[in-house]
Amino acid sequence: MSVIYERVALIGLGLIAGSMARAMRRGGLAKEIVGTSRSAETRETARDIGFCDRVVDTAEDAVIEADLVVLAVPVGAMGGVARRIGPNLMRSATVTDVGSVKRHVIEQVRPFIPQHVHFIPGHPLAGTEQSGPRSGFASLFENRWCLLIPDEGTDPDALRRLRSLWEAMGANVDEMEADHHDLVLAVTSHAPHLIAYTMVGVADDLKRVTDTEVVNYSAAGFRDFTRIAASDPTMWRDVFLANRGATLEVLGRFTEELFALQRAIRTGDGDRLFDYFKRTRAIRRGIIEAGQDTKAPDFGRVDAV
Ligand code: NAP
Repeated sequence: MSVIYERVALIGLGLIAGSMARAMRRGGLAKEIVGTSRSAETRETARDIGFCDRVVDTAEDAVIEADLVVLAVPVGAMGGVARRIGPNLMRSATVTDVGSVKRHVIEQVRPFIPQHVHFIPGHPLAGTEQSGPRSGFASLFENRWCLLIPDEGTDPDALRRLRSLWEAMGANVDEMEADHHDLVLAVTSHAPHLIAYTMVGVADDLKRVTDTEVVNYSAAGFRDFTRIAASDPTMWRDVFLANRGATLEVLGRFTEELFALQRAIRTGDGDRLFDYFKRTRAIRRGIIEAGQDTKAPDFGRVDAV
């Protein structure tokens, strides 16, 4: 593969930036990767593990002469970072982000991007419950979707170049409008995370379920909730605050369905439960057919797959 960007600046050195750095290195996609993070501790770790070619102390310095700038911080911090880097952005550079919410990020970031710079928001639909500078890995984006959010004014060449970077990192790329993205993600990711957080919280509150029982018998379904509910608290606080409207809309519908199923259980309406579960099982099959998961049984052990 060949070089796509001369100098890539990664602002934020966590799971997503770390995976991008590794994937770009593996493919020789950037001549130089410069990184920075808010805390001295993360910058130090990044230097120790050779996260990128150079780690600098400030975002303002990181973006100098970068032809691609990637904002990889929590969505609530994007606007503040954009404000700081705006004046130092190189003419014709592309700024993108990897935030899990799009409308809010666009509103926060766009005002600080100069006319002579391309701004193309993005969101790789790939992640784990791990975070921090040591958590990234090169194959994170393989066969995962990355959604780019161009608008009428987006430069086609800049878009093509960014798309080719994501494809070279293994992702399938699609384009989407910002509000639609936020609704889709509220259904597929944000509401499920809130439900997992709630379920784990409920189990913790139930004094009848002792700690040992929760831990020992967790493979009965609860374990998957605990994995999701172990996700980074800062990132997820920001996601819910930034995608308030769509998340509340989806949770409203969820609550209605939950009440309907609750009623079916109370009234002994087994047919309703059966039909509902039959429909949801088909969705799982669709995900497997689309190559977004395997059908191997997952007992939570690496060698189970
Ligand atoms: P992460 O591993 O937790 O790393 C976050 C990075 O942002 C760190 O470098 C951290 O700096 C920095 N940061 C935290 N708060 C900040 C603030 N207030 N101001 C400036 N910098 C700050 O996060 P991540 O999982 O890579 O997520 C980064 C972005 O990707 C988020 O917008 C998230 O929504 C999006 N995303 C995440 C996933 C996922 O599954 N994790 C998937 C797709 C997209 P210090 O360590 O120096 O404090």
